[in-house]
Amino acid sequence: MPSKKIVYECKYCRKEFTDYDECEEHEHTHICAYDEVDNVRIAKELRLLGEIASGYHIGGMVMGMPLKNYENLMEEAANRLGKRE
Ligand SMILES: [Zn+2]
Repeated sequence: MPSKKIVYECKYCRKEFTDYDECEEHEHTHICAYDEVDNVRIAKELRLLGEIASGYHIGGMVMGMPLKNYENLMEEAANRLGKRE
């Protein structure tokens, strides 16, 4: 008789868990409130979003705005947080 094995998968990294609570707890480790992150790292992440945005466009739009606007917005926001490293 076949046995049934239930596996829970992290929705962010696909890591598998046999325990639901353990999986849910793990998913929370991916979430960042950014309140304790310094401006240098935030600037770096915004810049990265701008750099990779072209891979996520739909009909030339990203997050409801033209791709170029999104790229420019991320770069300008990053610059205002501090100079590039
Ligand atoms: Zn994960």
